[in-house]
Amino acid sequence: MRKMLFIFNPRSGKAQIRNRLMDILDIFTKAGYEVSVHVTQRPKDAMEVAAARGNDADLIVCSGGDGTLNETISGMMLLDRIPDLGYIPAGSTNDFASSLKIPKNMIAAAHLAVEGEAYPVDIGSFCGDRNFVYIAAFGAFTEVSYLTPQDKKNMLGHQAYMLESVKSLTSIKSYRLRVESEEITLEGEFIFGMVTNTISVGGFKGLVTQNVALNDGEFEVLLIRTPRTPLDLSNIVNYMFLKEEPNEYVHKFRTKALTVIPEEPVDWVLDGEFGGTRMETQIINLQKQIRIMRNPSKKQ
Ligand SMILES: [Mg+2]
Repeated sequence: MRKMLFIFNPRSGKAQIRNRLMDILDIFTKAGYEVSVHVTQRPKDAMEVAAARGNDADLIVCSGGDGTLNETISGMMLLDRIPDLGYIPAGSTNDFASSLKIPKNMIAAAHLAVEGEAYPVDIGSFCGDRNFVYIAAFGAFTEVSYLTPQDKKNMLGHQAYMLESVKSLTSIKSYRLRVESEEITLEGEFIFGMVTNTISVGGFKGLVTQNVALNDGEFEVLLIRTPRTPLDLSNIVNYMFLKEEPNEYVHKFRTKALTVIPEEPVDWVLDGEFGGTRMETQIINLQKQIRIMRNPSKKQ
């Protein structure tokens, strides 16, 4: 019998897994898996369990929000032989699941976890000691993702991010830093930066360029300089929320690796969770590190 390690966060989203658990386990069992279940008990638990028990598994399935997915993948990155990963999204945003076209319906996602096609995706290495699946960001708007209370996220979903984002515009912090990559070097004052491997980012429509590939070995990078006038600020906000034309404050590029060198420590957010306060920050794209089950692509 093939072995599955199933890790789930019972508190993610509206705890909707409570009503679906029996059906999910039935789907896994019918697909021929011997299922070993771990209910996460605290932060970092999913990571520790994936790292400690993942070597014995033919398939790991995790259910939770972006944080649970990040932890599970971070644990898997420590394994000698990395099994495929199924994902049942249960959080309030699940940007990465929508990038992979994994359904929001938990039963449909459970079927996909055991019947789908394993699709290799790139993983971000952050300072060599953390990983991210789809976003590493700093500056304005970013503290929003982990400071917004869970019940508010559940209630409002994407809108919670937007509301908190606009509120936080009144107290924008500026960071003096240098960004180095093979393609470009930028220097100056910035209010926001994000390094992504995703098609959608919660609340920030239009931020990511088109033709995003999740396994091309490259990130999309967006950096926003500190506005000099209130009008400049409003142009930036319009750009972020209303998809207006880019302006002189906005830099976009693609790269395999970059280094951010700030003058003062910067707080980072990785996949919506606090990622630490850092000085020099090296971010590297590790191409096709994890194979995630998704809908089979149409054959030509
Ligand atoms: Mg990419």
